[in-house]
Amino acid sequence: SPVIGVLALQGDVREHLIALAAADAVARPVRRPEELAEVDGLVIPGGESTTISKLADLFGLAEPLRERIKGGMPVYGSCAGLIMLADKILDPRSGQETFGGIDMIVRRNAFGRQNESFEATVEVAGIGGVEGVFIRAPWVESVGAATEVLAEHEGHIVAVRQGSALATSFHPELTGDHRVHALFVEMVREKHGARSR
Ligand code: GLN
Repeated sequence: SPVIGVLALQGDVREHLIALAAADAVARPVRRPEELAEVDGLVIPGGESTTISKLADLFGLAEPLRERIKGGMPVYGSCAGLIMLADKILDPRSGQETFGGIDMIVRRNAFGRQNESFEATVEVAGIGGVEGVFIRAPWVESVGAATEVLAEHEGHIVAVRQGSALATSFHPELTGDHRVHALFVEMVREKHGARSR
């Protein structure tokens, strides 16, 4: 099975580890560059993207992570993780830097105050109806030509893929439905071929 890390600086790390294990991956927390070097793919969890960004700098993970993503390591980000994978954030708080990897512009906390948290069935290309849990969720404002839109909610883009990078505005790790994680595990298998068999 492929070895998939979960960036364990802040956020719902445990839920992703459980979902990955259920989807047949060997799942491990990643906090140090040495641990990052050992995984075939990485999940960036939901949480608070400004905090994840600051801690990644502090732990010396931001640069190695950018390099591995550029090198084609499969990555999946949910919610704050989606923000961290955006090449660009609309109105970033001063100093907030992303890891990048997906040609898209993201709007943080986009669904608004009166609608801070909600659940909705989202039709995800290649998967079908998924129960989407949205918590102060971002949406994707626009995507580049190489970025595939996998799902929209009320006209806003909430799931995308570019090559080996996958991102959702919502949190499949909170629902017990492991199909999004299974899709990511499959992407990691495809990338690593023989090693994963
Ligand atoms: N609003 C958070 C952020 O901007 C994301 C929320 C989440 O991950 N549930 O990072």
